[in-house]
Amino acid sequence: MTITRETITHLGALVLCDWCNEDWTSSDQSGGFIFGAKATCPNCAPGLEADAKRFNELDHIKARCPADMSFADWVREGRGPDAKVEVISATTFDELADAIFKGADK
Ligand SMILES: [Zn+2]
Repeated sequence: MTITRETITHLGALVLCDWCNEDWTSSDQSGGFIFGAKATCPNCAPGLEADAKRFNELDHIKARCPADMSFADWVREGRGPDAKVEVISATTFDELADAIFKGADK
């Protein structure tokens, strides 16, 4: 079993969509929302919202980016200075699923 975990604590200005991983750091485009705890970019938002509607999960949309603000600035403001992400890598999908859902490597 080969699972590695890396916690990144200094995100700086970096803003990535938690669904498609697109880099929005320098984009002025507005839109998107927070779904659960995931930053959802303007490109992913319409499809995800349609799915949320279909599965009756619209209450998972916790906040929406204001129209007069870029998605990147909105995410940076919302996460604050102590934000961190954990990057989990695994050899196989099953190992990754175990690491995420069961903490198998801990
Ligand atoms: Zn996206």
